[in-house]
Amino acid sequence: MKTIGLIGGMSWESSLEYYRVINEVVKEKLGGLHSAKCLMVSVDFAEIEQMQHEGRWDDAAKVLVKAAQDLEKGGADFLVLCTNTMHLSAPEIIRNVTIPFLHIADATAEKIKQDGYKKIGLLGTKFTMEQDFYKGRLTDRYGLEVLIPDEEQRDLVHQVIYNELCLGRIEPSSRQEYIKIIESLKARGAEAVILGCTEIELLVKQSDSPLKVYPTTTIHAISAVEVALS
Ligand code: GLU
Repeated sequence: MKTIGLIGGMSWESSLEYYRVINEVVKEKLGGLHSAKCLMVSVDFAEIEQMQHEGRWDDAAKVLVKAAQDLEKGGADFLVLCTNTMHLSAPEIIRNVTIPFLHIADATAEKIKQDGYKKIGLLGTKFTMEQDFYKGRLTDRYGLEVLIPDEEQRDLVHQVIYNELCLGRIEPSSRQEYIKIIESLKARGAEAVILGCTEIELLVKQSDSPLKVYPTTTIHAISAVEVALS
């Protein structure tokens, strides 16, 4: 079994999910007392969040490059960055380590392609929904058409992530707002929706959603186990 190197803490609420899902899947696949070989470097999210909102992406990338290098030195065989948003810094991380990097958008897009969907809604932070590092990869590498919510809805999705989900607050009223937004993506032609922020699946489950959901934490964690056991 390979050792998974997790860059976590963004937020720790979802890093906990990675750790849980990874171990559950290893147990399911190998049985008995088997559990995952993994390392995690967990950053202070308050520092990263401030850098994001001040547009200091180079500073945030430096923190993540250091985390990635520490994981490599510690014996990780490959890297899993436990946040969609900070994949903005993925190219920087990849340039500065020699071990492979398992990109969250690739893991997700491969599942979507397998299921045959082409027009896909995307929920996440405003950085993820509005910038090209994520949407562009889905379109350029996988031919997916990506629909994002309108500006007011994007604001709401973003605020709920930072002011509630990353603080461990799960509010039924926010779930209803998210469901309405998924409904409007469906009305615009989305065939399924990516929960493209690692905390969203703590709020919205498949049974809540009018569209098939792609929960990126679960998908990324399962894909990490597949790599670890390959
Ligand atoms: N965990 C979130 C994501 O997947 C947001 C936190 C962050 O900005 O890293 O995008």
